[in-house]
Amino acid sequence: MFMTISTTGTPERPATDLGFLLHKHPDKAQTFSTSHGTAHVFYPEASPERCTAALLLEVDPVALVRRGKGKGRGGAPDAALASYVNDRPYAASSLMSVAMSAVFTSALRGDCRAMPERAAAPLALRIEVPALPARGGAELVRKLLAPLGWARVDAEPVPLDERFSEWGDSRYVRLVLEGELRLCDALRQLYVLLPVLDDAKHYWVAPDEVDKLLRAGEGWLATHPEHRLITSRYLSRRWGLTRQAEQALELVRLAESDDLDVESVDNAVDEATDTPERPVPLAQQRRDAILSALHDAGAARVLDLGCGQGQLIQTLLKDARFTEIVGVDVSMRALTVAARRLRLDRMGERQSRRVELRQGALTYTDKGLRGYDAAVLSEVVEHLDLPRLPALEYAVFGAARPRTVLVTTPNVEYNVRWETLPAGHVRHGDHRFEWTRAEFRAWAGEVADRHGYTVAFTPVGPDDPEVGPPTQMAVFTLAESDGATGGKNANEREKEAKAA
Ligand code: SAH
Repeated sequence: MFMTISTTGTPERPATDLGFLLHKHPDKAQTFSTSHGTAHVFYPEASPERCTAALLLEVDPVALVRRGKGKGRGGAPDAALASYVNDRPYAASSLMSVAMSAVFTSALRGDCRAMPERAAAPLALRIEVPALPARGGAELVRKLLAPLGWARVDAEPVPLDERFSEWGDSRYVRLVLEGELRLCDALRQLYVLLPVLDDAKHYWVAPDEVDKLLRAGEGWLATHPEHRLITSRYLSRRWGLTRQAEQALELVRLAESDDLDVESVDNAVDEATDTPERPVPLAQQRRDAILSALHDAGAARVLDLGCGQGQLIQTLLKDARFTEIVGVDVSMRALTVAARRLRLDRMGERQSRRVELRQGALTYTDKGLRGYDAAVLSEVVEHLDLPRLPALEYAVFGAARPRTVLVTTPNVEYNVRWETLPAGHVRHGDHRFEWTRAEFRAWAGEVADRHGYTVAFTPVGPDDPEVGPPTQMAVFTLAESDGATGGKNANEREKEAKAA
């Protein structure tokens, strides 16, 4: 089993830096013993211009069989023979992955104390695997690797020995990858995809394989168009484990679409529209639900309270019905990104009159926020410590008093649909709490009562018959009579009624 990793360099950034990134010195040939044989790392070439590291794994077939035994393998005589006479020693497969994780542990993690900035940056890489067993052939190899950022994915079928040429090509391909990728990403992809392509594991797949897969899949697996094939094959088609992994990836996708990172949100949305079978990200479903509730309310002048990085504002700006949009957030960083996203500096005068971003804390009243048609609090309340919530409630429902208030928040009951989310954990590090449907309804009902609103509830995302939807939305509407009582709230009206 053989694989080479090459890079090119310049006098300022010599190619031999690869040695630092792999934690293996280019001048030395090193040997590591792994559970199934011996791994060698050496450098066939190491100059400032070009450097190639080779990983050669010598498999001990006898050790392989011995280890295989007692783990449910090799019962019948034929099977035992197949264990001795197989392609394990020659082809890159799950054994190669195990060797990679043993030999390149730090590089897989992306750790490099000597040159952290080099490890974090893309590198001009060329990776070659001369004999890669691929069930599904060259086509599948391309399908799995092409979406991962490589400029060149060459998968050339290896012909069978000429004596067997009438049988066509073997199930091996010669793989060459070229592109600018971080070394750790390239290694993680191969770590997962070698056994996936081989479609066999030399060891028993235990539940901790899910964690290994998720760790190695970080940053690329959740959004890979073939993520289902990859998880299923990687986990040897063990359905329960595959389901666990898929649920965790779903959570990653949701978190990414909730994420504060502009690019990932935009990509998630673009990809979702490219591939029809991909579910629409929850963040987009939420924006759609908010948009339609604002339409129903006939709102034109809208507050986006806790607007974050301005994704909703961007959606609202595309709709001429919204004549004035004010985004408020306490985070200057978020507002800066929002301004960039909306291209506020390059906006024409008419457009820029429609939108305003202002920094502010929602727990303080602000006269400037009075008199709007609607206010949106999208995924905001759960970011406040519960004792601060009454202050926000008063500032919004008591002081600003828009005709309509939309509040969305996670439904914590839905979290069980993600088995790998540890029990009792919230979906996002900054969530101070997450409510059940009953808790949210109780809070919203009291708020509505206290301030003279009526409230209705709308599910956002798939409404699970048992646990409900992932996001819950409350639509508050100022009670009709409120206008007549001059904007007084229910308590005040009650007091007046009692006094009378
Ligand atoms: N509404 C956006 C962002 C939600 S994240 C969306 O749906 O995607 C929550 C946002 O609320 C963050 O941007 C955070 O800075 C803001 N926020 C939290 N507490 C706040 C407070 N007390 N005052 C103003 N903004 C607050």
